[in-house]
Amino acid sequence: MNELIGRVFSFEKSVFPASSDLFARLSAEGQSPKALMISCADSRVVPEQIMQAQPGDLFVCRNAGNIVPPFATMNGGVSSTVEYGVMVLGVSDIIVCGHSDCGAMKALAAPEMPEGMPNVAAWLRHGTAAKNVVDTCCPHAEGPERVRAISLENVIAQIAHLRTHPSVAAAIARGELSLHGWFVDIHAGQVLGFDGTTGEFRPLREDEPLPVALPAQPRFAGETRLAPAPVSAAPKAEAA
Ligand code: ZN
Repeated sequence: MNELIGRVFSFEKSVFPASSDLFARLSAEGQSPKALMISCADSRVVPEQIMQAQPGDLFVCRNAGNIVPPFATMNGGVSSTVEYGVMVLGVSDIIVCGHSDCGAMKALAAPEMPEGMPNVAAWLRHGTAAKNVVDTCCPHAEGPERVRAISLENVIAQIAHLRTHPSVAAAIARGELSLHGWFVDIHAGQVLGFDGTTGEFRPLREDEPLPVALPAQPRFAGETRLAPAPVSAAPKAEAA
């Protein structure tokens, strides 16, 4: 038997029993993950490992190139996962996570789309904005530098796509959802975060505020707050 496939028995014999209380609670109470991570399917980037997440902590959607198709273009697995995560699970944060040495981004950066893979070619069209930003803003970038720039811009492009999803747009307007753009350098073991205020990717550091692409902040339509104001403390009981 394939040695990897055979490890499932180790899960049944050792891993599950060691966490049986956790699984029992999750089974009885259901899941309430706090964040949705949309990351690449690359085997070297493991969202649960990066987040040090336990079962129940993290809602995950992985695909080639950590792509989120815009709402209007197609109804698929990513769109449905995003909608479910926001509407049913009520996640407060969505992280789009790219990474270094990404095969999908290398294909996107190539002059021609890969032959014989019509699905990959069609999928990577959702990264066209990232490629165009780099081609027009950094026309002299070549090789790995260009792929890295496209990978970083792709994270920003997919965050923009996320905002076209009605569930996401409404949760942002209510001030209940923040969007994050991360980039894992798998050689350096470092995670960069996109700061929407400065437009920069910078390393995540424990002693600094987390860079946020789009922070949760209630919006106003004219003078009307788009979400009910938080319930204030209960009125004091009248003195007897
Ligand atoms: Zn990748």
